[in-house]
Amino acid sequence: MYGIAAIGEVMIELAPAPQNLKRLAYAGDTYNTAIYLARAGVPTCYVTHLGQDSHSDAILAELSQEQVATNLIKREPKRQPGLYIIHNRPDGEREFAYWRDQSAARLLFSSSNPDPSLLDMQMIYLSGISIAIISPEARERLHTFLSQYRQRGGKVAFDSNFRPKLWPHINIAQATTEKFLRLADIALLTLEDEQALWGEHDQDTTMARLLSYSLPELVVKRGAEPALVVRDQTLSTVEVCKVTTVIDTTAAGDSFNAGYLAARYQGFTPERAVRQGARCAAAVIQHRGAIVPLTDYQTSLAALAIDTHNES
Ligand code: ADP
Repeated sequence: MYGIAAIGEVMIELAPAPQNLKRLAYAGDTYNTAIYLARAGVPTCYVTHLGQDSHSDAILAELSQEQVATNLIKREPKRQPGLYIIHNRPDGEREFAYWRDQSAARLLFSSSNPDPSLLDMQMIYLSGISIAIISPEARERLHTFLSQYRQRGGKVAFDSNFRPKLWPHINIAQATTEKFLRLADIALLTLEDEQALWGEHDQDTTMARLLSYSLPELVVKRGAEPALVVRDQTLSTVEVCKVTTVIDTTAAGDSFNAGYLAARYQGFTPERAVRQGARCAAAVIQHRGAIVPLTDYQTSLAALAIDTHNES
């Protein structure tokens, strides 16, 4: 078994740019993770549906340039990628508007099971967004497939990434997310999302619920606060990198997941993997946008690596 497959949706992003212009890019939680995984040297494959339009062509070109395999991407003649626009409000907060109801990715697993070649991957990564955008029948197909995949020794990694607008009802969001979370060999969760999904207000309640699932490996991200790692029911707290100038936290969690999974793929401990995840996220949040240009990313990562070395 070889490599990691990420399953989900990539969208067209229009972000604020100088002189009231918008900058066009491509982004999506699992897409971002796939790109940062490949940059970490992990053989990575992205699984989605795209259209046959020029943006879909550009997304495929970006993936290829980033060394992410695209052979499992299907193209829908009558659909296109979804779109979102970021707007900076006068109070400094960012606002997101989405056009994704008819996106090509919504058709993932709508008429067929996941490709059997995925069974050869060492790990499959997906998120709460990947399961929110597909039909209930497609979810069933995916869940059955992932159960079989695990029985054959494959590992599932899952980030609950709760986005309320994608779900018809909170009860469905909770039940579906929990069902997929219980399949996870590695759960990479954000405290904030978990609390929003379950209406919880204190960390002890959230951690007690998460521990009750007896997940093999659980990571809880808490922004600038230390991340929590639970393995074999033993909890450890791992500091994340200090970042003095945070420019844009878009894709912080996605890049953290990439750094974490890459380190685990390469055989490092969960604690070391958190440090690697935190380093990737710290590099990403010092720049604008989800996918930081490669040279900027490498420069920031290298600076963080030197800092860590000097500290130890
Ligand atoms: P998400 O982006 O999914 O909301 P978090 O906000 O918890 O997730 O961030 C994910 C990771 O990104 C954190 O565990 C941490 O490593 C890093 N990170 C996020 N915000 C900061 C920050 N202000 N300073 C340093 N690291 C951060």
